Amino acid sequence: MAEFKESYHKIPDGKEKVIKRMMETEQKINHEIKKASLMKNEMRISFDAISVNEAFARVAVAAFVAPLNPTMEEISDIKTAVSEAVTNAIIHGYDEEYSGKGEKKEQVYLHCKILDDVLEVEVQDQGKGIEDIDQAMEPLFTTKPEMDRSGMGFAFMEAFMDDLEVISEPFCGTLVRMKKKLGTISWIKQED
Ligand code: ATP
Ligand code: MG
Repeated sequence: MAEFKESYHKIPDGKEKVIKRMMETEQKINHEIKKASLMKNEMRISFDAISVNEAFARVAVAAFVAPLNPTMEEISDIKTAVSEAVTNAIIHGYDEEYSGKGEKKEQVYLHCKILDDVLEVEVQDQGKGIEDIDQAMEPLFTTKPEMDRSGMGFAFMEAFMDDLEVISEPFCGTLVRMKKKLGTISWIKQED
């Protein structure tokens, strides 16, 4: 047995070169698979700022990322984050006090991009904007406690996505940009 182990580790020179070349070829193939699996895609939609469209936005983004073969958990994270951002646009951006009573005609703009294995989602409104962004992003901070809001929307977006950026100006509107890296590449490698 000991003899076998010794000879097993002694690879003749010629074979070493062949093994090295095989490993290099494998690396090149893996690189090609990775390149082929990278995607670029983009979509934009806008919809009325009414609550029925929260579900529409969630499903639209989930359908858009489907070609990347996300896990159920990734889809659920993305849907939650999109839902929070769209709800905010509808109930805070275009709130009744800012927009006036009656039927809302304002629009929410949804812009999604896939670049390689990263999904970027932007949710934008042209509503009342946020005066103090840092304060708004603090967990449990809400300006609508009377509506049973808990002030956890931004905290959820931050927790479920990899990156969150909020750009806002009072009376101009709010842009929420979120990014999430999906495990697509590792999934393809595992399959391989
Ligand atoms: P919850 O999301 O838990 O129901 P919430 O919406 O109040 O409660 P967040 O989503 O964290 O909590 O938002 C915090 C605060 O930021 C809001 O109460 C609101 O004042 C402000 N805000 C968030 N999004 C917008 C927006 N699009 N336009 C104007 N103000 C916003
Ligand atoms: Mg919210």
